Amino acid sequence: MSLPADLHMHTPLCRHATGEPVDYARRAVELGLTEIGFSDHSPMPRDDFDNWRMFDRQLDEYVAKVRLAQKEFPQLTIRLALEVDYLPGHEGWIRSLAARAPWDYFIGSVHYVSDSWDIDNPAKLSEWKKRDAFEVWKIYFDRLAQAAESGLFEIIGHADLPKKFGIRPTQDCTPLYENFLNAAAKSGCAIELNTAGLRKDCREIYPSRELLQLAFQKGVPITFGSDAHAPEEVGMNFNEAIALARSTGYTETCRFRQRQRESVWL
Ligand code: ZN
Ligand code: FE
Ligand code: FE
Ligand code: ZN
Repeated sequence: MSLPADLHMHTPLCRHATGEPVDYARRAVELGLTEIGFSDHSPMPRDDFDNWRMFDRQLDEYVAKVRLAQKEFPQLTIRLALEVDYLPGHEGWIRSLAARAPWDYFIGSVHYVSDSWDIDNPAKLSEWKKRDAFEVWKIYFDRLAQAAESGLFEIIGHADLPKKFGIRPTQDCTPLYENFLNAAAKSGCAIELNTAGLRKDCREIYPSRELLQLAFQKGVPITFGSDAHAPEEVGMNFNEAIALARSTGYTETCRFRQRQRESVWL
């Protein structure tokens, strides 16, 4: 049984990752992966929106870097994608990005719960002290449901990102998960098992077993992603993610080509 595709990895263009796509591809081949996909942080309408993504003018350079990896590693399937921030009102921008290259898929991620607070940013950790954790989770999951509903994304990224720093609400979050997953099931978008959570304070894959169990019950497909920001992170902890998926009931994962989903046995 081959490993599932690693569909979430970055490039130095986002200014907080190291290693070129060819280096990630080399690592993937070493690990015996047969398919990977690059999903670097997409540009924003304004280049000064934040400091952790490629500039708009670098989009062609990004595509060229991925094409070079495809050329150097013909034995490996390498998909071209983006991790796109979902913010309400950005739908037109996201559609315009979709038209600029022959993408295989878009990962829709919510990092921002307002125009100025990216909840996973360690530099803004103090914001968490000013807010009630449940309120943040509520806004986050409402936005995640909107992202799923929008039909703009094949995959929803790291579905319970607010747990990153280990700050969790005491309230039951099941209704928030349900609302999001109903939207995902309805629009047919997948969620990813993102192993980067294991490398953060929460020490847990995104999403939690609880959320994943609900996803399985609702028939929401899954993908796998290391969210690698360095070549050595490619495929990291995939065995743990596969075990989590199987123990929840999943027997299939999926992959994407030209924005079409295909199911594969897990
Ligand atoms: Zn990143
Ligand atoms: Fe992300
Ligand atoms: Fe990412
Ligand atoms: Zn990410």
